[in-house]
Amino acid sequence: DAVLRLEAVERAYQEVDHKLEVLRGADLALMPGEMVALVAPSGAGKSTLLHTAGLLERPDGGEVYLSGKPCGSLTDRERTARRRNDIGYVYQFHHLLPEFSALENVMIPQLIRGLPRREAEARAHELLDYMRIGPRATHRPAELSGGEQQRVAIARAVANAPLVLLADEPTGNLDPDTSSYVFEALEALVRQSGLAALFATHNHALARRMDRIVTMADGHIVPYDPPA
Ligand code: ADP
Ligand code: ADP
Repeated sequence: DAVLRLEAVERAYQEVDHKLEVLRGADLALMPGEMVALVAPSGAGKSTLLHTAGLLERPDGGEVYLSGKPCGSLTDRERTARRRNDIGYVYQFHHLLPEFSALENVMIPQLIRGLPRREAEARAHELLDYMRIGPRATHRPAELSGGEQQRVAIARAVANAPLVLLADEPTGNLDPDTSSYVFEALEALVRQSGLAALFATHNHALARRMDRIVTMADGHIVPYDPPA
C-alpha cells in the first residue's frame, strides 16, 4: 500500500488581482522503497507540492494520506508531530546548523523527538558511517565540502526513520561526480529502509535513475519522459 498518497489535492494562492490555482486535483501515490522524480519548470508548483506532501501546508481541497491515514482532520500539533516523525526533508542548501558538528546536526532531530542522548549519538554515528563521512563527524559544516555537507543533511533527514523522504534538488549544487555519489547514497538508504522518496530535480540524467518520472501539467501530476 502507498506510504504517501495525494488525492485530488488542490492549492491556490490569492494574487493581487486573481486566484492562482497551482494544484488543481493532483494525484500521486508513493509505494515503500519507491523513488519518484518530479521534473517541472520553475513556477510549476513543485515547492507547493512538496510542502503539501510534507504537511507544511494544508491543501484547500483533496486529501493527503500517510500510511493510509488521512491528514486533513489532524490538528496543527498533530500535523507537526507527524511531520517530525514521518517526513524527512533534504534542502537544496543544506540548512545545517553552523555552530554544531556533523554528529550533533544528525542527533538534534532525534533529541527533539525525545530519544535518549546515547541512542541518538549511536544512530548518528551509524548514519554518518553509512554515508561514508564517519571520520568527519566532529567537524562543523563550514569545515566540510559541499558533498559532505549534503551527506550530513541526508543523514539528518533520515535520522528519525521517516516513512517519506522529500527533497528539492538533493544534488543541485554539487559537481557531477559528487552528485552521482550522493545520489547513490540516497538510493541505498531508500532501498534499504523501504521509505518512499519524492525528489524534485532539473537533472534529467538523475531523474532517469529513479523508478519513474512525473511532471506537473495544468495543476495535475502526470507521467513524464524527458527528452534525451
Ligand atoms: P516551483 O517550486 O515549481 O518553482 P512554487 O510551488 O514555488 O513552484 O510556485 C508555484 C506558483 O505559485 C508560482 O507562480 C509562485 O509564484 C506561486 N506561489 C508560491 N507560493 C506562493 C505564496 N505563498 N503566495 C502567493 N503565490 C505563491
Ligand atoms: P525553519 O523552521 O527553519 O523555518 P521550516 O520547517 O519552516 O524551517 O522549513 C523551511 C523550508 O524547508 C520550507 O519552506 C520548505 O521549503 C522546506 N521544508 C522543511 N520541511 C519540509 C517538509 N516536511 N516538507 C516539505 N518542505 C519542507
